[in-house]
Amino acid sequence: MKAHFQCIKGCETYSLNEVVYQCKKCGSLLEVVHDMNSLKQKSGSEWKKLFQERKTNPDFSDQSGIWNKREWVNPMMDKDYIVTLGEGNNPLTPIPPAAKELGMKNIWIKHCGNTHTGSFKDLGMTVLVSMVNQMIHKEKQKIKAVACASTGDTSAALSAYGRYAGIPTIVFLPRNKISIAQLVQPIANHALVLALDTDFDGCMKIVQAVTKDNSIYLANSMNSLRIEGQKIVGIETAEQLGWKVPDYFVIPGGNLGNVSALGSGLTMMKELGLIDKMPVIILAQAENANPLYLSYQNQFQSFEPVKAKTTLASAIQIGDPVSRDKAIRELKKFNGIVEQASEEELANASAKYDRFGMFTCPHTGVALAVMEKLADQGKIEKNSDVVVVSTAHGLKFADFKVRYHESQLENIVSKYANKPVELEADVEKVSKVLYERLK
Ligand SMILES: *Cc1c(COP(=O)(O)O)cnc(C)c1O
Ligand SMILES: [Zn+2]
Repeated sequence: MKAHFQCIKGCETYSLNEVVYQCKKCGSLLEVVHDMNSLKQKSGSEWKKLFQERKTNPDFSDQSGIWNKREWVNPMMDKDYIVTLGEGNNPLTPIPPAAKELGMKNIWIKHCGNTHTGSFKDLGMTVLVSMVNQMIHKEKQKIKAVACASTGDTSAALSAYGRYAGIPTIVFLPRNKISIAQLVQPIANHALVLALDTDFDGCMKIVQAVTKDNSIYLANSMNSLRIEGQKIVGIETAEQLGWKVPDYFVIPGGNLGNVSALGSGLTMMKELGLIDKMPVIILAQAENANPLYLSYQNQFQSFEPVKAKTTLASAIQIGDPVSRDKAIRELKKFNGIVEQASEEELANASAKYDRFGMFTCPHTGVALAVMEKLADQGKIEKNSDVVVVSTAHGLKFADFKVRYHESQLENIVSKYANKPVELEADVEKVSKVLYERLK
């Protein structure tokens, strides 16, 4: 079984252990292409059985939701060099009261942020760091460190997997623009943290320049190995539903790697005979960073980057997404819809689903707001099965939640604010409040 990198325009191919991120001929992104004929030698039901059996093996990598399906992820990977922190196997939580309210058969949240570092970035980073680990320790390639420019979740995931494998990591950040919550993981994971006097794009330029000589490996999202891990989200969802897909997936997008991965995993699963139906994919953008939404308005005939404005959904504050060609290709294949959510809509949707016990991040708020909007408009048909992909753990965004509930978010009416009741320590006064609240 083999897989290789291929230019998405089709001009060249490269080996997966080559240090290459973009086509050397045309500069386009690469994608991992699998040998589908050899994968087809197992039937759909044989694959299902193998995945099921591995889950109960007393082997940490067999139990990873990603490496459990390793032939589909990276068949070039030697099991001894896998770097896993137990990613995947994310809960698919049904929310019956929400389904009832919107007239849907089922609504689930796929909690991809319930991972070691608190976001879905772990699902892809395990694949990238494992491959680098094999390149360094098995193939003796001269790679000194792995680097990324990131203001958040990517640097947390890279630094964690790198530290676990004993591979040095370097994180480039814009100086004085990063919150403590975002800084704490790279620092604690002993990454070399370089805070530069520039913005995110400036950091990106520097990281691309210093990774040119191949001794520092680039982990940013143009690296298509990460997609191979993220691809498992749709496959695992189907597995959790007894190998059935929902009618709709709703997923938030910034650089658009994750939506591309979702489409690619679903396609693979259908080609290999594990499912027979394809869902609709709905991509949700923040109105403040909505280039794909604008492109969708003209049926993807043109695409103009935008200058992204500040959004509470900080991980998708991206105006010129790296993976836009892949994303458009997948959305066309899946009758895709692109919809946007305003700051107020995303904040209130996030808080609304917190009231169902979901504790959502603002990016998941974008997806939930979009789902509610499309359900209202009938673009998500009544009585459907809907899966919303949650991308990060709510705890990474405690500040957003506190400010929401204190009604401190600018230009936002906090519809579901839940302020603490401040009281004297007096039994009578406390009892009075309890009586009022519990009647
Ligand atoms: C990275 C990230 C996204 C966006 O994913 P893309 O692949 O860039 O579209 C959304 N939410 C969170 C929490 C993220 O970390
Ligand atoms: Zn090319």
